[in-house]
Amino acid sequence: MTSDDQLRAALHAALPEGVLESSPYARAMYRRDASILKAEPLAVALPHDLQELRQVVSVCRSLQISMVPRGAGTGIAAGAVPGGAPRPPLVVGLQRIDYLTVDPEQRTARVGPGVVNLELDRQANRHGLRFAPDPSSQISCTIGGNIATNAGGAHCLAYGVTSQHVLSVDLLDAEGELHRFGVGSPENNGYDLRGLTVGSEGTFGFVVEAVLQLLPLPPAVETMVISFPTIGAAAEAVTAVLNARCLPAAMELMDRGAVALTEAYAQAGWDTDAAAVLLLEFEGLPHQVTDEVAVALAAARRYGGHNERLASDPTRRAELWKGRKAVAGAIAKVVPDYYLHDVVVPRSQLARSLEQVLAIAAEQRLRVINVFHAGDGNLHPLLLIDRTEPDIEGRLLAAGRAIIELAIAAGGSLTGEHGVGLEKRDFLCEVMEPEELELQWRVREAMDPTGRANPGKVLPTPHSCADLTPSLVPAGAWL
Ligand SMILES: Cc1cc2nc3c(=O)[nH]c(=O)nc-3n(C[C@H](O)[C@H](O)[C@H](O)COP(=O)(O)OP(=O)(O)OC[C@H]3O[C@@H](n4cnc5c(N)ncnc54)[C@H](O)[C@@H]3O)c2cc1C
Repeated sequence: MTSDDQLRAALHAALPEGVLESSPYARAMYRRDASILKAEPLAVALPHDLQELRQVVSVCRSLQISMVPRGAGTGIAAGAVPGGAPRPPLVVGLQRIDYLTVDPEQRTARVGPGVVNLELDRQANRHGLRFAPDPSSQISCTIGGNIATNAGGAHCLAYGVTSQHVLSVDLLDAEGELHRFGVGSPENNGYDLRGLTVGSEGTFGFVVEAVLQLLPLPPAVETMVISFPTIGAAAEAVTAVLNARCLPAAMELMDRGAVALTEAYAQAGWDTDAAAVLLLEFEGLPHQVTDEVAVALAAARRYGGHNERLASDPTRRAELWKGRKAVAGAIAKVVPDYYLHDVVVPRSQLARSLEQVLAIAAEQRLRVINVFHAGDGNLHPLLLIDRTEPDIEGRLLAAGRAIIELAIAAGGSLTGEHGVGLEKRDFLCEVMEPEELELQWRVREAMDPTGRANPGKVLPTPHSCADLTPSLVPAGAWL
């Protein structure tokens, strides 16, 4: 078998100067994403355009090297971590392919995969338009990554997740074939391969271009931050507001621990005495917004909502949002690392599930804060960690497993928006029947017959489920 060094030398010889990075430093830099897992890649390719990417794919095909597509590496499910495959794959970063054109008349944008989500939104804003899906990582995550994970975000409650905003997607598969799925393509007839590709987590190949739908900016926007006496009351208020004939554009919940951290860091004026705080945003025509704010406020007050602060001008709204958007920075100030979980529970179970999360963290002696898109039933416990603490990894994994199990028991699902990746792959054995997994494998094999696109991700091998104890650290990766 060809050694890794020989493969690296062959890649260097075949690819244009400046595309391949194979030093131990580069390999170390691309071992991980924003999850807790790591694995060493063979090397890293950073093509500047589609032509160079095609060269990378072609040489990998002839050398039978697997590839891991990568955007900004903000993924939390270890989807861009090069682990879980029999041999180290090549990480292919697409950040450099970042062209962007907005067509204001059609209300669309044509983008390369490396365009950063917030940059797209800013360019759209110049034409009175917006890109609605806004993951909390939008300052750095890429559209390619958003499409591959079918990302959600604060405003996806009202506008839908990424898939609802992708009109067409160009996919370069691991064999080097280029496909266009969706509007404007013959392949739009028949099965919805656009929909299938969105959320495929790099296992079908590379998203190399997309045409995205843009929405008009709303004429009126009002943001409200409101305090609650218990986290359960805040969770009940979420359901009450949604049942009160009103659909906020965003509904974000932060618990006391999260508010304390961000206030110390960003001083956004959120209530540090509250057990939980909800941020709600309303958009539409002015009279509709006024009406919805009144309805939501009345519903929230029935569950102890108090001390509300409202803002409609952009500067004051941005000040309120600062309390939510500063969470990642605030965490970095106090702990070296965190483990961000992502599960979904039915909204009716939210209050109970939050209490369970707090109990799990207490049992494992872990510090936890909760920050999440509450309207979607997402649960995002953030376990704050310092890896030098004794036995931290064992306690972390035990808590992670218990959180997944509570979501399954509550009738929820393994992932709300971050995807399955490598991290949750083996847990699919617990929630899917063998026949269902086999069907998923048949779909994957149709899209990637040689299995060289992001191998080891999303699906556990069908025969392995029988004797597998699901693990958050699958073979081939480490913490
Ligand atoms: C602080 C923080 C907040 C976050 N908030 C949210 C949130 O609100 N909502 C949400 O949904 N997620 C959130 N995330 C998770 C993450 O930002 C999203 O999953 C995002 O879509 C990943 O984009 P990326 O460019 O970083 O992709 P990466 O992490 O590089 O990759 C993610 C997956 O997509 C694949 N991929 C990347 N680019 C391509 C491509 N061009 N073609 C094919 N496959 C590709 C990779 O192989 C991998 O499987 C958050 C993460 C952080 C750190």
